[in-house]
Amino acid sequence: MREELTDTLLYLDGISVSFDGFKALNNLSLLVRRGEMRAIIGPNGAGKTTMMDVITGKTKADTGTALYDGRIDLALLNEAEIAQLGIGRKFQKPTVFENHTVWDNLDLALAGSRDPFPVLFMTPGRGAQQIEEILETIRLGHRRDVPAGALSHGQKQWLEIGMLLAQDPKLLLVDEPVAGMTDTETAQTAELLRNIALTRSVVVVEHDMAFVRDLDVKVTVLHEGSVLAEGSLDHVSADPRVVEVYLGR
Ligand code: ADP
Ligand code: MG
Repeated sequence: MREELTDTLLYLDGISVSFDGFKALNNLSLLVRRGEMRAIIGPNGAGKTTMMDVITGKTKADTGTALYDGRIDLALLNEAEIAQLGIGRKFQKPTVFENHTVWDNLDLALAGSRDPFPVLFMTPGRGAQQIEEILETIRLGHRRDVPAGALSHGQKQWLEIGMLLAQDPKLLLVDEPVAGMTDTETAQTAELLRNIALTRSVVVVEHDMAFVRDLDVKVTVLHEGSVLAEGSLDHVSADPRVVEVYLGR
């Protein structure tokens, strides 16, 4: 148990959440290791978004334990405090500043994440270098001077991921990132997230099976608020219960 905890960044155990008597999460347990990327799949209403709400403090669990970094009890913290710990969340709809350039969007995100004592820690040019690195990661170097409003839908999603990276999260939560993307953008997003997961943990919820296959990571199948199956995509795809509730439809 102890060893398990030191290697574990996110530990959910027996989490339940009810809305007016309906159990959106039902005794959910999930363990994400440091540096691991995990894909979460499951039918609509399975509780995927609610799980992210619990991790980020938007929703409080009725029962169960949610530990971050082995010891921090997320139930005791509010959303802002949890974000401060290095848990970043990307929502489905991009929320970039359309009238600002790609560069300025990243600059603003970086400024917003800076230390409250900038004079003590500021290094000239550090921000610009960080923005360059993020631009490379999110494949928008060639679009840096374009207003974000002129980007394609997929590129906007990448920009928003870049704005989260400006906060240097240790755990990045991404909810349905490739919805509405072209096939090419979808494939590029898998590669982009794999790069991001080289330096942090990532939990990605997605329905697109080609994308999940490209991610090539352990998959957790949620159903009715609990874990139905876990393992490689091939492993869970061969599970008759998974086929019945999700893949076979
Ligand atoms: P998923 O993301 O897997 O599609 P959700 O986590 O959004 O599923 O929802 C799980 C269930 O909980 C759904 O039946 C949904 O209607 C319900 N639910 C989610 N949030 C709320 C809420 N704030 N109030 C009432 N019911 C909710
Ligand atoms: Mg959802």
